[in-house]
Amino acid sequence: MLNKILKDAETIAIGGHIRPDGDCAGSCMGLYQYIKDNYEDKRADVYLEEIPETYQFLEAAKEIHHEIPEDMEYDLFICLDCGDQDRLGFSAPLFERAKHTYCIDHHISNTGFAEDSYVISDASSTSELVYNLMDYEKISLETANALYLGIVHDTGVFQYSCAAPSTFRMAANLLEKGVDAPRLIQDTYYEKTYAQNQILGRALLESILFMDGTCIATYITKKTMDFYGVDAKDLDGIVSQLRVTKGVEVAIFMYELEPRVYKVSLRSKDTIDVSKIAKYFGGGGHKKAAGLTMTGTPYDVINNLSKQIEEQMESLAGI
Ligand code: AMP
Ligand code: MN
Ligand code: MN
Repeated sequence: MLNKILKDAETIAIGGHIRPDGDCAGSCMGLYQYIKDNYEDKRADVYLEEIPETYQFLEAAKEIHHEIPEDMEYDLFICLDCGDQDRLGFSAPLFERAKHTYCIDHHISNTGFAEDSYVISDASSTSELVYNLMDYEKISLETANALYLGIVHDTGVFQYSCAAPSTFRMAANLLEKGVDAPRLIQDTYYEKTYAQNQILGRALLESILFMDGTCIATYITKKTMDFYGVDAKDLDGIVSQLRVTKGVEVAIFMYELEPRVYKVSLRSKDTIDVSKIAKYFGGGGHKKAAGLTMTGTPYDVINNLSKQIEEQMESLAGI
């Protein structure tokens, strides 16, 4: 229970992973709002990189800190949706300085880097885990909105296998709080700007199928991003569109972070454990959704990943 985790802490920092997604932002903002609403004697602050424009409907979004104070030492640092310390990014020094640390997460690759953890790798989302720690009666509409955002994004609007009966029950309970689900889903998940759709189209058009159509890959260079006037946040959803291609088991999407350095997203449909592949190359994630950073040309990246995918396919087939 949250009471126990927060018991001896007067000052609490909340942080999530770099390039925050819906679950990271939702779990952080949900927990922050809940502490603000119910623990008047405690001070909580959220440290996150800039979140997408579409999540700004969360009222407390304007209170997010994007830089850390030099001298502040928190009693407790709670990190959410983050599997290793490096992924905390700019807030990592605050984590190191904090008197105590606690991690709530659902990454199978979680390294157990915090003093105490609540990690359930088959949970739909960190937002679901955060919800489990709360008293239902004490959840405000603002908190409910944030947690709903988190489960919607990490389950792909309830379509992925990580969406369990408990996830649907939680969603129903949050609706009882007044969450406007159709609007939230439309505005934060499905709606795309013209430029986002254009770059999605470009990525699909240039995708390649290989390994007998079981793998699909595509990449976007910095130059292409500049041409369409988009940044990394605008590329969300490309890899899930690749994944639904008929016959495909593994989808690979990458975009250039700097010359010869690519941020890679991996998705699988059924059997392949992409978290193992990501971990092998220094990344991490979940069985069916993982990420990593790789150096080389896109073709080097695809070659290196293919070898690992092939090995797993062969061992699954008993070859
Ligand atoms: P993405 O492809 O970035 O949407 O990430 C898919 C999943 O893998 C998310 O749960 C991420 O938190 C996780 N992930 C992405 N990149 C990394 C990385 N470099 N190291 C560890 N986990 C990652
Ligand atoms: Mn995340
Ligand atoms: Mn998550």
